[in-house]
Amino acid sequence: MKTKLILIFLFFCAGHFFAQQTQVSIYQQRFDNYLNFKGALSPFVKIDQSGVKIFKDALSKKNDSPELLIYWEETATFINLVKTAGMDTLEAVMCRKGKNKWKEAELKRYGQNSKNIPSYTEQAPFTGKKIVIDPGHIAGNMDMARIEQKFLHFSKKNYPGLTADSIDIAEGILTYQTASILKKLLEEKGAEVFLSRGNNESTFGMTYADWLQKRKKIVLDSLKNTGDLNATRYSSLMKDKDQQFFWDFFRDYELAQRVKKINSFQPDITIIIHYNVDEKNTDWVKPSAANYTMAFIGGGMTADVFKNLKGKINFLRLLLSEDLAGSEKLSALTVQQFNTSLHIPIAKQADALYLKDNCLSTASAGVFCRNLALCRGINSVLVYGECLFQDNVNEYPVLSKQDKNYFGIQTNERVYAVAQAYYKALLNYFSK
Ligand SMILES: [Zn+2]
Repeated sequence: MKTKLILIFLFFCAGHFFAQQTQVSIYQQRFDNYLNFKGALSPFVKIDQSGVKIFKDALSKKNDSPELLIYWEETATFINLVKTAGMDTLEAVMCRKGKNKWKEAELKRYGQNSKNIPSYTEQAPFTGKKIVIDPGHIAGNMDMARIEQKFLHFSKKNYPGLTADSIDIAEGILTYQTASILKKLLEEKGAEVFLSRGNNESTFGMTYADWLQKRKKIVLDSLKNTGDLNATRYSSLMKDKDQQFFWDFFRDYELAQRVKKINSFQPDITIIIHYNVDEKNTDWVKPSAANYTMAFIGGGMTADVFKNLKGKINFLRLLLSEDLAGSEKLSALTVQQFNTSLHIPIAKQADALYLKDNCLSTASAGVFCRNLALCRGINSVLVYGECLFQDNVNEYPVLSKQDKNYFGIQTNERVYAVAQAYYKALLNYFSK
């Protein structure tokens, strides 16, 4: 009898051990294949029987003395906390936690408010789904497009083959039109949709010019007072011309606000819309023959992510939640739509330098892990879509038109086709 009990006990222990081994190897694989860019994070991370450990440096890792530890039994609570609390709260909680295990009361408190997601029906496939659409960049006119350097200007001087006198395309206008159409398509099927910005607006709810006038001094003063900005940088930023200031400060500052604003909506899905260009097309003053489609998801992280607590929290969320798996699935479906309905070839890693040098490829064609601020910071399944090359010789003539109207939005048929491709990919995502 006693032997039998011991055997059962041993069997139970072995089962528990193997279950934990599987869990360790699943997360280890995600770390190796999606997150750890060329081994950059190896000195700081260990995944073992206790959970996921984050170390200050290689020596602390050697001594097995982590500064942060998420135990396996805490992962669900951690994910819930990331998805429901703001970054300030999160940082305070994680700072207190360190490598200690959460007590019963903390597990209960942080595990509350989890979201209840209704299931799919064919009549209203998006009912109850919260979707953010992020129209890339800011520009609603060519002046702003020039400031943020997201524009094409073809003229007869550089490109004698041009039929018009000149062609101007602003990426921020294309992304906003695409987002507005996609919003209508999704809302018709029951989704709750939030656009991260308005027309010609930053995510601060005003134009860049207005922000400079109303907010620049207040924001820089406050950063100087908190010690986040030293006196030299403060005075140099205050003297910056508008375009220089955009690149020295505003661009990153606005992206951080974009992440914050998107997360505060607590989306199930985030669609980030961009239009690409051929990187080898010098100065983009004439068309290129190249055209590729691709999408980015989180991961491909480098050591600088671990410089602050926020980055470590971003890393743990990507490692421990199913956001990366969901993002890869949605992005693969989106790239397939761009390929089949828009007839754009899918990019391979060798097709662009930024894919070769900054990204990890995934098993899904055209989907790459890239350590972009939005891919890293947004707490939901996402697709960062780069549907096509605007400077392509066949794309620019259509993209530069404003000859069609859909749902009251003046645009062209190519932009509408792009919006539809995103819509169909989302339908597939929720139905499969
Ligand atoms: Zn873009």
